[in-house]
Amino acid sequence: METLLEKLEEECLCQICCTIFQEPKTLLCLHTFCLSCVNQLAERHRAEKVVPCPKCRREIPIPDDGTFNTAASSFLHNRLVELLAIKTSSDKNISCGNCKKVMLECSFCFDCSTIYCRPCLNAHAVLKADHKVRALKDFQTEDYQDFLQRPMLCSEKFHESQPLVFYCNHCQMCLCQLCVVVNQKMHSEHEIIPLNEAAEIRKVSFLSEIKNLEKKKKLLDEAVQEMDKLTSEIDENVDSAKTEVKEFSDLLIANIIQQRDASLAELEKVRDSRRVTAAERKIRLEKERDQINGALEFGKTLINGKATKDLLRESDIDKHFQHLLNDQRDTINETKLETYVKFLPGTETKFFGTETQELGKIVTHRFSNPSKSQLFHDAVEENQASLKVSGLSVVTKSSEIGRASCRERV
Ligand SMILES: [Zn+2]
Ligand SMILES: [Zn+2]
Ligand SMILES: [Zn+2]
Ligand SMILES: [Zn+2]
Ligand SMILES: [Zn+2]
Ligand SMILES: [Zn+2]
Repeated sequence: METLLEKLEEECLCQICCTIFQEPKTLLCLHTFCLSCVNQLAERHRAEKVVPCPKCRREIPIPDDGTFNTAASSFLHNRLVELLAIKTSSDKNISCGNCKKVMLECSFCFDCSTIYCRPCLNAHAVLKADHKVRALKDFQTEDYQDFLQRPMLCSEKFHESQPLVFYCNHCQMCLCQLCVVVNQKMHSEHEIIPLNEAAEIRKVSFLSEIKNLEKKKKLLDEAVQEMDKLTSEIDENVDSAKTEVKEFSDLLIANIIQQRDASLAELEKVRDSRRVTAAERKIRLEKERDQINGALEFGKTLINGKATKDLLRESDIDKHFQHLLNDQRDTINETKLETYVKFLPGTETKFFGTETQELGKIVTHRFSNPSKSQLFHDAVEENQASLKVSGLSVVTKSSEIGRASCRERV
């Protein structure tokens, strides 16, 4: 009761106009609003023939007369509004249960379950002196409870002081003593049972409906949980795939950098070894050229006739000249030094017919044709240190030289 009193104002607020309920009406979705508020809503949605509940969006059919005037009045909310008025000592919403006038300084009779204005209370005091009466402004917490739970009174004309004690199963309405006696004809064929009994029967079916709703709620809870689980599974899978992408690309990048450095080093090696060979051959060529220069000078001197005696040593000179000529031919042939070197990117070469992660290949002979190369495992025959590392050699075949093959180290 105390929590209800604390939240009373909130409970009495209409969500459409944001003020205290005026003639609260409960819609099919069990949400309550002022009568004028839902009627304005019905006016706006007349064409659609349904109004969306402002709280739950459920579509509520508009009654045939275009208004919610005949919709169920919220008995509970009416009482809460009265309770709020008593609690906030504002009597403007409280009318006398006897003369129906809105009056200040009302009191409540717990035995008659009726609010009386001062004049009516004076009359009541004469007839029912033993009834428990309290001024609304003096209400205690337990009085609010009694007020809220007081019996409902009949709304039929002239029955207003009669508590509702019966229920007609056929008409589905609550009746007072007078309804049963005076309107006897109306309900003569109908089953009339005590109101408490009707409430008990309703409670049983209500409980089973609640149970079914609870079951469905549990299923929905589980489905919501499952959705959360799936969502985090999506996150986990995406994150781990991202990690794998990063790790694998780091690996590829490291691999490529390693291959780049190895290729650059290999090219420097090719340069060094070829320059050494070239320098050696140049020295040999220059040495031979010098020897020939000497021989030429000697020959010219002889021809100029300054040493006739030496000219007559014909066979020695011929031998020497012949030696120089032959020697020269070998050294010149040797100068066909390989200068060719080229880089073939891995994307173009596709080594051994498969996509590889190879950066590429350095080709040191013009006629190497990677697409016609064969892989040999041949470390025994060739004994170089670099060959031991890889243990592989490539026999390259070029279309230009047909079946002839030359061997290249990789
Ligand atoms: Zn309202
Ligand atoms: Zn609703
Ligand atoms: Zn009165
Ligand atoms: Zn009384
Ligand atoms: Zn009836
Ligand atoms: Zn009645």
